[in-house]
Amino acid sequence: MTTQRTFSIIKPDATRRNLTGAINAMLEKGGLRIVAQKRLQLSRAQAEAFYGVHKERPFFNDLCQFMISGPIVAQVLEGENAVARNREIMGATNPANAAEGTIRKVHAESIEANSVHGSDSPENAAIEIAFFFSGIEIVG
Ligand code: ADP
Ligand code: MG
Repeated sequence: MTTQRTFSIIKPDATRRNLTGAINAMLEKGGLRIVAQKRLQLSRAQAEAFYGVHKERPFFNDLCQFMISGPIVAQVLEGENAVARNREIMGATNPANAAEGTIRKVHAESIEANSVHGSDSPENAAIEIAFFFSGIEIVG
């Protein structure tokens, strides 16, 4: 068992509905610690760069448009097996398939506007954290 870090985003559908605190409470109750956090407005170029792995997917343009439709909250989360733990707390991509009590089951509007992003591996977590934060901004 090792302490790990993962990267999280509270997406524009959630900031629009004033759900930052409600989602943070679910993350903290789930055993994760928010060790860095900032609210920002992505540019189109930044959204395309962040979601570059999805650029061949049919929903890529809509996804980037959605991610720049309002402010996001970028976060670094820390805890035991934080990458997998956060994915459990988030729930399935499509809220229709998400387990009871997960963030996406409780708060997501649709498969696209699904309230949160979470890294899918420790390797991607490191890449995504470095995209948004410098070391001095992360306080464990
Ligand atoms: P996850 O966020 O669960 O890791 P993916 O990495 O597969 O899911 O997709 C990234 C994001 O793209 C999703 O969180 C969601 O916002 C959007 N997305 C995924 N699949 C679809 C889809 N079929 N239609 C529209 N948007 C989608
Ligand atoms: Mg993903």
